[in-house]
Amino acid sequence: MPAETFEFQVEARQLLQLMIHSVYSNKDVFLRELVSNASDALDKLRLEKLRDDSLDADVSDLHIELDADKDARTLTVRDNGIGMSYDEVGQLIGTIAHSGTAQFLQELREAKEEAKEGAEEGLIGQFGVGFYSGFMVADAVTLVTRRAGESEGTRWTSRGEGTYTLEKVADAPQGTSVTLHLKPADPDNQLHDYTSPYKIREIVKRYSDFITWPIRMTPEGTGPDGEGSQDQDQDQGQEQAAPAPETLNSMKALWARSRDEVSEEEYHELYKHVGHDWRDPMETIRLQAEGTFEYQALLFLPAHAPFDLFNRDYRRGLQLYVRRVLIMEDCEALLPPYLRFVKGVVDAADLSLNVSREILQQDRHIDMIRRRLTKKVISTVKDMMAKNPDRYAAFWREFGTVLKEGLVTDPENRDALLAVASFGSTHHDSEQTTLKQYLERMKDGQEDIYYLTGESRQSIENSPHMEAFRDRGIEVLLLTDPVDEVWADAVGTFEGKNLRSVAKGRIDLDAEDTEASEDEQKKQGEEYAGLLGWMTEQLGEDVKEVRLSSRLTVSPACVVSDADDLTPALENMYRAMGQ
Ligand code: ADP
Ligand code: MG
Repeated sequence: MPAETFEFQVEARQLLQLMIHSVYSNKDVFLRELVSNASDALDKLRLEKLRDDSLDADVSDLHIELDADKDARTLTVRDNGIGMSYDEVGQLIGTIAHSGTAQFLQELREAKEEAKEGAEEGLIGQFGVGFYSGFMVADAVTLVTRRAGESEGTRWTSRGEGTYTLEKVADAPQGTSVTLHLKPADPDNQLHDYTSPYKIREIVKRYSDFITWPIRMTPEGTGPDGEGSQDQDQDQGQEQAAPAPETLNSMKALWARSRDEVSEEEYHELYKHVGHDWRDPMETIRLQAEGTFEYQALLFLPAHAPFDLFNRDYRRGLQLYVRRVLIMEDCEALLPPYLRFVKGVVDAADLSLNVSREILQQDRHIDMIRRRLTKKVISTVKDMMAKNPDRYAAFWREFGTVLKEGLVTDPENRDALLAVASFGSTHHDSEQTTLKQYLERMKDGQEDIYYLTGESRQSIENSPHMEAFRDRGIEVLLLTDPVDEVWADAVGTFEGKNLRSVAKGRIDLDAEDTEASEDEQKKQGEEYAGLLGWMTEQLGEDVKEVRLSSRLTVSPACVVSDADDLTPALENMYRAMGQ
């Protein structure tokens, strides 16, 4: 079958353009990305073979191989992992499956227009444009792959300029090899020679040391400078003539090493690998449990929320290892859904290697781990709040909406979550307030915590419901996330104070005044009886009752719900969901 030419999907093409005209100052990271993919492919093959022993695949020597050719100016990253089928290559490499791509590209354009320093780099990181990063250093890329268990392989080639070719090949080895045809060497900058064993060694050490599979480099003959002949594995079984491949990484699991032995950078590199993110995490959390059920955990709070966090098919979960061996990617049972943005690794000592997801969901030990990890994440946020308010504020901006789901779904940690939550308020223009701070500012005699939900701060502030509160200088929380309605109802109280929507029920802001003027009220009632009756008649089915109120100061009228009715914002939300 001859090679067929295809066009990249529009978004993919745009990202490729960015790569080619590289927005990254540090091009070395392309190798980290390719090694990361190769490592994933080896993990996947091992897991698949574990599940299905009849899979026709060789798992006896899973590894990654780096092969540089100075004369041809190529660098090849090869793995003997799961590989890809013909269709998969087109799907996985030719398109960007990421949802939110349009939004991303829009933000990218805006960042460009405003010429924000570093903004592009930051944004592109959200996409984990892993494979494409090869085009930062190469003007053409060839990928040859064969899916484990299949007999035919596929060759993919591209110059990154809008099209790629696909062709079936008969003799591809199991796994994937990616060959970069490197851009011409910069004579002024030998540091960027990616065919140099020194350079390759350095990059692997820096970014991929913890990868659990051996990353080998076969020295290019034994050159005059003897490069590549140092630090070799002493493999006596090898023939004299063929230089033994050198293993570049230590393969040590970071979570199994003592804390002071691992640098922050190393933790960050692990995060980028497991989190498929290009940016550093906001927090690194280490956890160790000894005793009857031993485990270690390394968790990361990302610095930015991914675009698809609220999509149904968002891949959540941690990597689950048993004594340094990965047994499950995306293990959801280890964290509650509202902490789905947390990335990381759990390594448990006593679990069966082929435990299923279903069994894990009900496993008592896994349940224990989940509860402990959950508390640890919340307490980390609490520490951040106390010690680094700016970082906390940034965290809450990114993940507050998700965490608030926990107020509804996780009663066990509700109080702890309420303590680390913050909200918009009439007291501040842009800052957020905690409930505790709200309580401290409450007026004498104020019994309740007032809030109002709506689509935006502005729409809430313009609501007639706010008038009386504004006039009396009573603080109101301004809640703009759809989930706010739900938790505010579910939670009910904070430290003995009721949470009350200013849009619900009767609110007597000045109880004493009202009592004093009971007579007057009565009189008013009689005076307006005619009008109220007429309005009730006119509005008919649309309202339950028309009554006089002291809550307005400027607007003539407003719509109020019964205390236990849906508020207007929630009604809108349900309507939008088609209910
Ligand atoms: P990510 O790794 O974040 O998914 P990449 O752009 O790095 O994004 O890779 C895209 C996809 O291509 C991977 O998810 C994987 O399915 C496939 N892929 C890339 N490299 C390999 C490889 N060496 N072996 C098998 N599949 C690969
Ligand atoms: Mg990748």
